[in-house]
Amino acid sequence: MKRRDFIAVGGLLLGSLPLAGRRVFAAPPLTSRLILLGTAGGPTPKKTRAYPGQIIVVGDRGYVIDCGNGIARQMALAGVFESLRHIFITHHHSDHNADLGNLILLEWGTNLKTPIDAWGPPPLSRMMRLFFEMNAEDLDVRVKDEGRPPLPPLVHAHEIDRGGAVMKDDRVTVTCAVVPHPMIPLALAYRFDCPDRSIVISGDTHQSDRMVALARGADVLVHEALYVPKAPGEPGSALRTHILASHTPVEEAARTATEAGVKTLVLSHLVPGETTVVSDDQWLAAARPYFAGQIVVAHDLLEI
Ligand SMILES: [Zn+2]
Ligand SMILES: [Zn+2]
Repeated sequence: MKRRDFIAVGGLLLGSLPLAGRRVFAAPPLTSRLILLGTAGGPTPKKTRAYPGQIIVVGDRGYVIDCGNGIARQMALAGVFESLRHIFITHHHSDHNADLGNLILLEWGTNLKTPIDAWGPPPLSRMMRLFFEMNAEDLDVRVKDEGRPPLPPLVHAHEIDRGGAVMKDDRVTVTCAVVPHPMIPLALAYRFDCPDRSIVISGDTHQSDRMVALARGADVLVHEALYVPKAPGEPGSALRTHILASHTPVEEAARTATEAGVKTLVLSHLVPGETTVVSDDQWLAAARPYFAGQIVVAHDLLEI
C-alpha cells in the first residue's frame, strides 16, 4: 500500500452521524495494529523465526520498535513497509539494531520523501552519521541518478539517556523505562499509549520492578522470554550464566504480567527461537501457572 493510499482508506473510514436533521461527519477513534515482525532472540539466524522487531500502526502511521536483520522485508510481507514514521531502538545488541540504517536506506530507495525520527540509547546519532558515511556512494548516486531528496536531512536521531517521557504526537504517547540487561550500558523498554489501548514492549531485560511499573495496567505486554531448560550453553558455562543474568525466564515474564495487571501477555524474543526446539504448548505450559490473563506465543507476522 502506498503512502498516498492510506489517505484514501482513512477517508473511507469516516462515518456519518445524524444530528438534528443534518448529517455530521465524525471520524471514529483511530485503532492501533500491533504486528510482530520478528520473534526470535539472539544473534544467530533462525529457520523458523526472524530477528526481533515489531510495528505499531495507528491510522496510517507506523512506529517500529527494534530493527533486527530483515526487518524491511518483514514489514513488506506485513503490508506496512511504507507506513514508517518513527523507529525506537531498545538497546544496541545486533539482534535489535542491525538493520536500523538499512531500514531507512531501503525506505528511501523505495519512496521516502518525508522525515523519519529514530529514538534510542546513545550513540544513536553517531551510528546514523557513520551509516550515512559508509553508504555515501549509494546516497550520492541515487540523488543524481534518480532525483531523490538527500537522505541525511530527512533522518532525525534522538538519543535517550533516562527513563520517562520520550515523545508524543496526536496519536501516541511514548514513555520508557531503563531496564537491567547486563552488560549493555543502557537498555530501554517502551510503552505506547494509543487512542484505543496501551502496548508495552520489554526489549531485552532481566526481570525487574521497573518493567512492572512501566507495564502497569497495560492492555498488551510484549515480553521477552527464555525457556531455561533449553537455554543455550552448558550449566555453569559463561554463556549460560550471561543469558540467565540478562534475560527473563518465561515464568518470570508471566509473573511480571500478573504484578503489572496487564490484560494480554505476548511472549516474544523467544530463546531458544526455533519452533522445533520449544513448542507453543511448552511456552504456554511454563507461563500459565503465573498469569491468568490471555497469553499469546508470538509468531512472525502475527497481528494483535
Ligand atoms: Zn535480544
Ligand atoms: Zn540484548
